[in-house]
Amino acid sequence: MKRKRRHLKWVGAAACALLLCAWIGTFWSAFGYQTRTVVVVLSVGCFEVSVYPKGMPTQAPGWFAAWQPYEVYWLPRLIHGTFITSRTTHVFVPLWIPLVLVGVATILAFRHDWRFAPGHCQMCDYDLRGDFSTGCPECGWEREDVS
Ligand SMILES: [Zn+2]
Repeated sequence: MKRKRRHLKWVGAAACALLLCAWIGTFWSAFGYQTRTVVVVLSVGCFEVSVYPKGMPTQAPGWFAAWQPYEVYWLPRLIHGTFITSRTTHVFVPLWIPLVLVGVATILAFRHDWRFAPGHCQMCDYDLRGDFSTGCPECGWEREDVS
């Protein structure tokens, strides 16, 4: 359990770094995948899903990328548009939202480790000097009944 949490916080830190790079990167680039009717793309600071119910005859399905300065969408958006004659739907989820969520969880994971130093009680931080065999005399954590 402890080992898993220790591992998770580094996964969280790596995810934060990746999300930050992806978010900043999308201010100037677009990268995604499209089928005939659906486009999934990282762009304008967002994860965007666009649906073209009648297809995009001018676009070839597959991966695509573009580089240029984009207007950044800071808030989630749902946009209905038209493409030639069909109605389209565009959903934008700003990447700072998962960044903040993962970031807070990661900070909490790090703080947990700072608060409870190695060798200390995991409940109250009493210094057990690394000896967990009898639990904690301070708060009773993992302690067998010794009466
Ligand atoms: Zn304790």
